[in-house]
Amino acid sequence: MNKTNTSNLSRRDFLKVTGAGLGGLMVAASAAGQAHAASGEGLPLPEQWALLYDATKCSGCRECEKACKRYNNLPEEDVEDLSGNTFTLIKLYQSEDGSEKSFRKYQCMHCVDPACAASCPVSALHKLENGPVVYDSYKCIGCRYCMQACAFGVPRYDWSLAYPFIRKCEMCYHRETGPACAEICPKQALIFGKRGDLLEIAKLRIAVNPGKYYEDRVYGEFEGGGTSVLILSGVPFEAIGLPALDHQPLPDRTQWALNIVPVIFFGVGGVMHAIYEATRRKARKQAEEA
Ligand code: SF4
Ligand code: SF4
Ligand code: SF4
Repeated sequence: MNKTNTSNLSRRDFLKVTGAGLGGLMVAASAAGQAHAASGEGLPLPEQWALLYDATKCSGCRECEKACKRYNNLPEEDVEDLSGNTFTLIKLYQSEDGSEKSFRKYQCMHCVDPACAASCPVSALHKLENGPVVYDSYKCIGCRYCMQACAFGVPRYDWSLAYPFIRKCEMCYHRETGPACAEICPKQALIFGKRGDLLEIAKLRIAVNPGKYYEDRVYGEFEGGGTSVLILSGVPFEAIGLPALDHQPLPDRTQWALNIVPVIFFGVGGVMHAIYEATRRKARKQAEEA
């Protein structure tokens, strides 16, 4: 699968441009603009990869969580939220009086127009032409701007590393048979396919089960400009932690933030360049002493 490259800026390049001053910062801001512009490219939307999660079919067996850990070589951990080592998590929602309950699978929603990619000044996050939103650690400069931009609270920093990186689900884009989590689901609660086909399946389930699904609606068809993880639920979407979003693409909401990227990078870039220089001087001194 080919990645859609929108910028040639690497981590080293970035340090150079931040060292070079404001001119370099404007290059970074321009790269963010390119990333946003590129997010609409690729296969027609109905042909792109997607996942359909039907919370009414989910038994909470957590086989999907385990499969994700195995495939991505992630350590087991006892957490209540996504983390640098947990790309997907099943949580149980229960209403206070106990009359309503539902599972929900948390993971990256692989937005049609991802705010994380739009906010990244060096295109370290970008949408592949067939749908998955992926991450290039070589380009990442650690600004964590994507974490602020994502309406679903998905990107996490892996603090266990000396040099932390952003971590999140990449829809197993390099896996021949599609996402490991969907492949293992024993209940057809999680299925993988083309977005257009999955929408049809979701709407068919709604049609043949009147009153079963909340508002007879597929979350992600339009919310935030659309997502590639589509969700059916028997309880209100907000109750299972899905934000109420209109149809406006999420990057449009964060445009104000993009406008201040150069200001932020002036600070972050300056600090990073200072660290880089200090490390380089220390290494040279050690080499001379040796
Ligand atoms: S859910 Fe968040 S991290 Fe995932 S593609 Fe959308 S904006 Fe990016
Ligand atoms: S698509 Fe892959 S990385 Fe994402 S949650 Fe499923 S198994 Fe994990
Ligand atoms: S494997 Fe399927 S049924 Fe089991 S928790 Fe995951 S989505 Fe639900």
